[in-house]
Amino acid sequence: MTGPRIVIAGLGETGVLTAVRLSRRYDVVGIGAKPALVSGQELGLRLARPERWARDYRLDFASLRGLDRTRVVHGALTGLDLAGRTVAVRHLDGTESREQYGVLVISTGVSNGFWRRPELQTAEEVDDAIRDPHERIAGAATVAVIGGGAAAVSAAANIAKAWPDKRVELYFPGERGLPSHHARVWAQVRDQLVSAGVGIHPGHRAVLPPDFTGEELTAEPVHWSTGQPPTEADVVLWAVGRARPNTEWLPPELLDEEGFVRADPDLRVPGTDGIFTIGDVASTDPLRSSARNFTHTLLAANVRAYLDGKPLKTFRPPRRRWGSVLGPQPEGHTIYAPNGRGYRIPAWAADGLMQPLIVNRGIYRGVRDWRRRVV
Ligand SMILES: Cc1cc2nc3c(=O)[nH]c(=O)nc-3n(C[C@H](O)[C@H](O)[C@H](O)COP(=O)(O)OP(=O)(O)OC[C@H]3O[C@@H](n4cnc5c(N)ncnc54)[C@H](O)[C@@H]3O)c2cc1C
Repeated sequence: MTGPRIVIAGLGETGVLTAVRLSRRYDVVGIGAKPALVSGQELGLRLARPERWARDYRLDFASLRGLDRTRVVHGALTGLDLAGRTVAVRHLDGTESREQYGVLVISTGVSNGFWRRPELQTAEEVDDAIRDPHERIAGAATVAVIGGGAAAVSAAANIAKAWPDKRVELYFPGERGLPSHHARVWAQVRDQLVSAGVGIHPGHRAVLPPDFTGEELTAEPVHWSTGQPPTEADVVLWAVGRARPNTEWLPPELLDEEGFVRADPDLRVPGTDGIFTIGDVASTDPLRSSARNFTHTLLAANVRAYLDGKPLKTFRPPRRRWGSVLGPQPEGHTIYAPNGRGYRIPAWAADGLMQPLIVNRGIYRGVRDWRRRVV
C-alpha cells in the first residue's frame, strides 16, 4: 500500500466500485451505514420478488472479493472537519470515532421513498425493510402507483406481472411516463405495462399529504390537483422523485442550493483539497448521472492522477437516461440505449453470463457463493 489513506464516505453502488478500484494500490477505508451493498436499483423486482432481487442487489460486504483489501467501517457519517482532514462516524453501539483521510470520496447518495434510506441498520433491519413492503403489497387487491419515472413504472409493471389478479394503476402528471428517457423507451415500456394489465393515467398530479415523507406505503385516498375525483387503493406507492441528498453531515460550503455536493468536471469538490464526489449525491450535471457510465473508473483514475501530480480527466455526462427500466424478467433483461433502442438480453445469457461474469466477476471482482444464493 502506498500514499495517503483514501476514505470512501458511503458504501453504495459507486462507493463500493470506487473502493474495489482503488484498494489494489492504496490504503482504503470504506464507511457505510449498512453491513451490505443495498442497491437502489430495480425497485419493481425488489417489491415483486425480493429473494430474486436480493441475489444480485443485496450483497454482504464480506461476500465481495473486491473489498477484501478495504477496511470496512459500519457506521453513519456525522461530520467532516476540513481543517483536520477527518470524518466523524457514529457506530451501532452509539460510540463515535474519527477517520483521518488524505483523499475523501463523498458517495452518500440520496434518500428516496422507503427503498433508499441512509439510516444506520443491522443486517436484520435491512432484510425487514426489504420484506415488509413486499408483504404489504402481497396482501393488497388494489395498488396505486404515483409517479412516472423509472421507479414508478418498474414497480407498476413488476407488481402487475407477479400478481395478475391485482388491479394496478399508474398515475403521473405529464403526457407520458419516463420523461428523462428517449420517447422510444416510453413507447416500448408502455406496451409492456398495457400487456401486464396496468391502468395508465397521464395528466394526474397528486396532492402530497401534509406530513408527506414518501417513506411509507399509504392507504388513504389520493387527491389530484388536476381536477379528477380522488382515487382509493388498498396500497398507495409514492415514487414521485423526491430524492433528497444524504449530505446533512457535510459543511454547507460544499453544497449547492439544493443540498447536493458541488462538483467540478473532474469530480473534485471545488474549493477543497483532495475531496472528490460521485454518484447521485454529486451535482455533476442536470441528471446527476455519475453513478452510471462507469464513472467510478474515471474517478479512480483521477484520484491516482491527483496523488501523482498528473492532469485529471473530465466527466462527460450523457444527455438522456439509459439502461434498465423493468429489470430482469423471465423473458430476458432489456437495456435501453440513449437513442431509445431496447436490447434484450435473453434470460439464459443475463443469468448465466452477464450477472456472474460481467457484473460479479468483472465489476465486483467476484461474489462469494453467488450461485448458492436463494432466488
Ligand atoms: C453497475 C451499475 C449499473 C447501473 N444501471 C442503471 C440502470 O440501468 N438504470 C438506472 O437508472 N440507473 C442505473 N444505475 C444507477 C443507479 O440507479 C443509481 O444511480 C446508483 O445506485 C446510485 O449510486 P450511489 O452510490 O450514488 O448511491 P447509493 O447506492 O444509494 O449509495 C449511497 C450509500 O451511502 C450510504 N449513506 C448515506 N448516508 C450515509 C451516512 N451519513 N453515513 C454512512 N453511509 C451513508 C447509504 O446507506 C448508501 O449505502 C447503475 C449503477 C451502477 C453502479
